[in-house]
This record gives sequence, C-alpha cells and structure tokens, in this order.
Amino acid sequence: MLLDVKHMSLSLKRAGKYSKILDDISFYLEQGETLGIVGESGCGKSMTALSLMQLLPDKARLEGEVDLQGQMISGSSKRKLEKIRGNQMSMIFQDPLTSLNPLQTVGVQVEESLILHTKKNKKERRKRVLELLNAVGLPRAEELIDEYPHQLSGGMRQRIMIAIAMACEPQLLICDEPTTALDVTVQAQILELMNEIKRETRMGIIMITHDMGVVAEVCDRVLVMYAGKIVEEAHATELFGNPKHPYTQGLLASIPKLGRRKEKLGSIPGTVPTPGSMPNGCRFADRCPYVMDICRTVTPQMIQVKENHQTACWLYDEKGGNENATTRSHE
Ligand code: SF4
Ligand code: MG
Repeated sequence: MLLDVKHMSLSLKRAGKYSKILDDISFYLEQGETLGIVGESGCGKSMTALSLMQLLPDKARLEGEVDLQGQMISGSSKRKLEKIRGNQMSMIFQDPLTSLNPLQTVGVQVEESLILHTKKNKKERRKRVLELLNAVGLPRAEELIDEYPHQLSGGMRQRIMIAIAMACEPQLLICDEPTTALDVTVQAQILELMNEIKRETRMGIIMITHDMGVVAEVCDRVLVMYAGKIVEEAHATELFGNPKHPYTQGLLASIPKLGRRKEKLGSIPGTVPTPGSMPNGCRFADRCPYVMDICRTVTPQMIQVKENHQTACWLYDEKGGNENATTRSHE
C-alpha cells in the first residue's frame, strides 16, 4: 500500500472558535492507482489534499494518521516534511499562473526542486530539466527554459507544473482540479498526459475534481465527499454503473449526456452545509429525496454494500440489501 489514511479529522479556527472541516476520513491508495476525490466545492476535497501534504495554517488541528510507504507523515517535524514534499509527494494546483513565479524563467523553476532534493550538478540538472519538459509534451524545450510563465498558454503552464511536480519522481502526486481552468481540448490532453505518466512511473495519483467527466477519464477508484465526510467509495466503473448514495446519484445526474444541451442539466437542489452548522445525522438530509426520520438523528456509518463498494446511507444494510432504496424510489 502506498498511502494509508486513518481517521483523519481537521479543525480550523474561524471567528475565535474551532469547527470541523474534515470528519474522520479514512482511505488508502495503491501504487500505480489513480484515486478520484469528488464532491461539490466546500465538501473538503482541497482540505483533504492540504492535510495530506501537511500544508495547513498554524492553528489548524489535524488528527489521525497519514502513512506514506511505511513513513508516518502526520506529526512529522517541519524539516522532515520539507524533505518529503516535492521528493516523495508533490501537488499540482488548479491555477498554474498563481503557483508559478512570474519573475523566474521556466528552467529555473523546474530546476529548483532538483537543487533542493538531489545532488545533481548544474549540467546534470539542465539535462534533467530538458528531459522533464519533453516528458510532459512541451515542444522546443531548449528555448522554453529561458521563457517566463506569462509567455505561455494555460495548458503549457500546467504542463510546466506537472514537470515540476515530477522532477524528483515522487511516489504520490496530488492534483487539485488540475484541468478546471483549461478549455476542453487542452483538458483532454492534460488528462491523457497524466494517464501516460501513471503508466510509465507507477506512481499513485489522487485526483481531486468536481467533474465526473474527469473521473471517468483517469480514475480507477473514487471517493465521494460530502460536507467533510466520505459518503461513498467504489471502483470507478462500479460507481458510474451502480451509484448507491443519493448524493452520488445527484452528481452523476448532472453530467452532460452526449447530444444533450448543457442548459437541461439536472443539479442537486440546495447547498452544502457549512462547518460551523452541521446538522445532526446525515449531512445530506436536507437535500435528499429519500430522507427518512432516522436520517435526521443518527449519522449513517460506512458499510460495505458489495465487494469494493461502500457507502454511508440509511437506505442500505450490511448485506448490501437496498430494499429501502427500491421501494422508496417508487413512492
Ligand atoms: Fe438520504 Fe438518509 Fe441516505 Fe442521508 S442517510 S443520503 S438522508 S437516505
Ligand atoms: Mg477545492
């Protein structure tokens, strides 16, 4: 197992008081696997990523265990974390323009991680930078190293970010909405690149997205998050073919179908509850078409409904029965 996360909870201080942003998150990732984390914005996807990287504000309270290849990251010293970040785990963010330094050339920025984490000399570093730029599909690498971020297109900038993240061949790559700011064609190219990199390097990828289309393109397995909790986990094909949680069903219903116009998309009515004011019981209750009395008082736990498929919803029982679901959906 590459990554093993156990009972991770995160509380942040807001207006003088702590509120829970992540509530008892547990999951794992295998080598060579791409795990999607999906949900609307405000569900805790990005906070999950930042917690894994231990990139949190000073007053954040993080509980639980994060184990990367037998190394306990949670509770590690600042110094050890700096060694791990960029070297064993890297992260790519949504907007490459804000992550890149506008005043430094592409070459310098890709080289930086090599200076930090390797003993390569200048000549070796230059060779590696050119190699990396080629590997992420950037043409005329020799000229590119002397250019600045603003001279490049959005897609090229994201390729640079991927090159930086890949520089030290991390075992774990965390991508937070890496294609959201890009147009559809460029998005498809970047996703194809990620698939290629995964095939070649066997690294584990966590792909954070609100876009089920992205999940379908690259993910092997998926976690669905709602209001700081994981509500469903399954292999991607299983999740798309047999979604169990009403929230997942709602997310899938809002994917544009081929040939159907975007305006006719269904979306889930209502909004995600905020951390300071979580309802009792199931956090999705106010938006759920199947809500029952028990949902409003008792929090549903994750249960296995099928091999490789878990969900936290009162419609299902341990044996994978979903009698409630079938009868209730015909009401
Ligand atoms: Fe809906 Fe109840 Fe399931 Fe929550 S537990 S998703 S409210 S049916
Ligand atoms: Mg986010």
